[in-house]
Amino acid sequence: MPATMASTVAHVAYIGLGANLGDARASVEQAIARLRQLPGAALLSHSALYRSAPFDAGGDDYINAVAALSTTLEPLPLLRALQAIEQEFGRERPYFHAPRTLDLDILLYGDQVIATPALTVPHPGLTQRAFALLPLLDIAPSILIPNAGPARQFAAAVGAQRIERLP
Ligand code: ADP
Ligand code: MG
Repeated sequence: MPATMASTVAHVAYIGLGANLGDARASVEQAIARLRQLPGAALLSHSALYRSAPFDAGGDDYINAVAALSTTLEPLPLLRALQAIEQEFGRERPYFHAPRTLDLDILLYGDQVIATPALTVPHPGLTQRAFALLPLLDIAPSILIPNAGPARQFAAAVGAQRIERLP
């Protein structure tokens, strides 16, 4: 079977959304709506929107959210599909950690551990970044991170990072 073909087995993947260029709030809201249209996936739930300080970077505050997908896409085809959505939203990559119209990261893919040049899952920043961890805990308070344990045990360690849940 070609690697890009969808299998019939569904996995739950958690997607981190972030934007800090233009109308970031509208971008994240529209991106969540766009995820509903993704072939081979169903949107199960999504978190509230959060506003967070840029991490290791300058620029405006970020708007963040996390979405849960049930998907038959394998991890790499899922990443490619997410990158195509980033392109639709006008994403450019002028330099590392540059401001972005839309960033879509695979935070978790079932209980899989993936370590390839194109894809690291669980996302290496998940346990250290409030903007990924807190929205994830919103929709999956008991989630386990493979090789790390319950996600909620990392919440205290990110407590000093500036982040606000939007109404
Ligand atoms: P950032 O690290 O700020 O999200 P990019 O969105 O530009 O930066 O992603 C850079 C590269 O990170 C992508 O080309 C992709 O191959 C790789 N990558 C590795 N693991 C992941 C993941 N879990 N989710 C998304 N991209 C990932
Ligand atoms: Mg990314």
